[in-house]
Amino acid sequence: MRIGIDLGGSHIGIALIENNIIKEKIEIELEKKENIVLYIMNILDYYISKFKEDNNIELIGIASPGNPNNSDFCITNIVNLGIERLDLNNIVEKYKIPIKLKNDSKAAGLAEFKYGSLKEYEDAVFLCLGTGIGSAVFLNGRLLEANKYVGFELGHIVIDRNGLQCNCGKKGCFETYCSIKRFKENAKRILKLEEIPSEELLEKIKDNIANKEISKLIEEYIDNLIIGLSNVIDVFEPEAISLGGSFVFFKDIFYKKLEFEMNKRKYVFNKGSVPKIVLAELKNDAGMLGAIL
Ligand SMILES: [Zn+2]
Repeated sequence: MRIGIDLGGSHIGIALIENNIIKEKIEIELEKKENIVLYIMNILDYYISKFKEDNNIELIGIASPGNPNNSDFCITNIVNLGIERLDLNNIVEKYKIPIKLKNDSKAAGLAEFKYGSLKEYEDAVFLCLGTGIGSAVFLNGRLLEANKYVGFELGHIVIDRNGLQCNCGKKGCFETYCSIKRFKENAKRILKLEEIPSEELLEKIKDNIANKEISKLIEEYIDNLIIGLSNVIDVFEPEAISLGGSFVFFKDIFYKKLEFEMNKRKYVFNKGSVPKIVLAELKNDAGMLGAIL
């Protein structure tokens, strides 16, 4: 048995996994706490010891944003949770179970590549469009990994040199135009809405699909997405690209239009061949399933 943990910006998912089957799963919405590090460590400690009681655990895999480092078992720069450094050495020493840390998008991509939307392909790219854009690249059946840091961060490809300011310090990054967070902010501004759940926002967008500003917003989103995708395609020549994250939730307003435009604009792509654009299939389980791979 293995324990797969997905440490997200707003929740933690912890699963007991046998081979690739989730036997038991806990999902916890993270509250805003003063000592967030202690709060997270307590949650991890509680559930690891609970799962360990009745099972023989051979590996704990943790998927997380930021920079996970397997040489010192620390994750640095988890920006969304305001954590500079999460030190997991206590867990390593207490349980004496091997621990593997992974970037969250790479973990989700691995799960999609092995069990989900990309399982039929050897050369593929996974893009997680959510708060930002995370990514994982596969060539000849293998995940490409950089030597020092996370690497293959396709969300920070510049698509407009004078563009919007990105958290990474550059301007005009792909994720400043095509994160779902940015899309939602713009849609709410146009429709004069306060904070509302994504389900309601999607309905409001559908109700206002004829609104000129909304249709322009969707068109621009697709335009920018195609610029980003065309760069990815020119570099890696993938057979397929899987789009995941909250993009999947908004698929009704994006997917058909994207497919249509991509086929229409064949000329922008390397040798005119358009890879298959698929939607991620494993939803929230992807991070937990990929963390133990
Ligand atoms: Zn950036």
